Amino acid sequence: MTPPQQFTSDNCSGICPEAMAALVEANHGHERSYGDDGWTAEACERFRELFEADCQVYFVLTGTAGNALALASTARSHHSIICHRVAHVEVDECGAPEFFSHGAKILLADGVDGRIAPDAIGEIATRRDDIHYPKARTVSITQSTELGTVYQPADLQAIQRACREHGLALHMDGARFANAVASLGCAPRALTTDCGVDVLVFGGSKNGLAIGEAVVFFNASVAEEFDYRCKQAGQLLSKMRFVAAQWVGVLRDGAWLRHARHANACAAELEGRLRPLPGVRILYPRQANAVFAHLPAEAIVRMQQRGWRFSTTFGPGAVRLMCSWDTRSETIDAFVQDLKQVLGG
Ligand SMILES: *Cc1c(COP(=O)(O)O)cnc(C)c1O
Repeated sequence: MTPPQQFTSDNCSGICPEAMAALVEANHGHERSYGDDGWTAEACERFRELFEADCQVYFVLTGTAGNALALASTARSHHSIICHRVAHVEVDECGAPEFFSHGAKILLADGVDGRIAPDAIGEIATRRDDIHYPKARTVSITQSTELGTVYQPADLQAIQRACREHGLALHMDGARFANAVASLGCAPRALTTDCGVDVLVFGGSKNGLAIGEAVVFFNASVAEEFDYRCKQAGQLLSKMRFVAAQWVGVLRDGAWLRHARHANACAAELEGRLRPLPGVRILYPRQANAVFAHLPAEAIVRMQQRGWRFSTTFGPGAVRLMCSWDTRSETIDAFVQDLKQVLGG
C-alpha cells in the first residue's frame, strides 16, 4: 500500500522520474570512481551552462555538509559568520558550521519574513573593531528562506553592497534554490553571480533527487582545496556517478525547474484555499513551496488525530505545510476538507 502524502517536508517525497531514469542509465558496466567519471564531468558542465559561468562544482551527500564545508572555506576559526536568526545553519545543523570551521562564531541578524535586513550586516560587521571580538568574514543567506519567502534580485544586490563595503564573502544556502528561481522567474545567474554570491549550495534532495547536493563556487579562490575538505569530511562518494547522473537527469531537460514550479503552484493553491477559512491566518508571504498558517490549538490536535503530519516547530499555533515536486491535488483537497470539518465542529 502506498502511504498517503503529507505536508511534513519536501524531502518526504520520492525520486522524480527524470532522476530515476538517469540512475538506470548510469547503471551499466564499470565506471571510474570518486567523481572521475563521465556523469560527474557532464553534470559539472551542465551547471556551468545553467549559471552561464565558469563555476566549480562539487557534490556532497547532505545540505548540512555542503553548508558547513562551504562556510569553512570562507571563514577561519577566528572569524564570524552572519546569518538570519532562523537560518538552517544556525538552528538545524547541530553546530556543523562551527565544527568544520574549527570555531568560527555565528552572529545572528534580524530581518522580516526570514530575510536578513542589509542594514543588519553593516551593524554587526562594525559592532567592534578590536582584537577581542571575532572578525566578521562571511554572510550566509537562504534562498528561498526558511519561512518560505524569497530574496528579490534587488534585495540580493543590497546585500552584495553591504558585503563589498565590509569585505565579506557571500554564501547562499540553496536547499530550495530551485523554488526561488521558479518563483522569481529569472535566470539562475541573476540570483547568484550577478549578486556577488561566492558559493551556492544547490539542493537536490528536496526537489526530486534521492540524494545529493551541489556545491557551486563562483569564486575560485574560495574553492581552493575544497576537494580535500570533502574527502576529509567523508563526503567524497566512491560511486559518485549515481549522484551526478541524477543531476544530469534533472538538468538536461529542465525538470529541476518544472518540479519546483509544480511545488510552488501547489503551495499557492493550498494557501488560496486556507486563507478564507475561519480561524486560519496565513503567517508569511507565500512565495515558494511552503505555507505557514496559524490554526486554533484544538484544530492542530484534531488534524494530527486524523493522521495529518506537518511541522509545528515554528511557534505556538503555527504549522508549516510543505509542498513538493510530487504533491497531488487530491492531497490538497483532502487536507482542506478535513480542516473545514475540524474548524466547523
Ligand atoms: C533541508 C535544508 C538543508 C539541508 O538539510 P540536510 O538534512 O542536511 O540535507 C539546508 N538548508 C535548508 C534551509 C534546508 O531546508
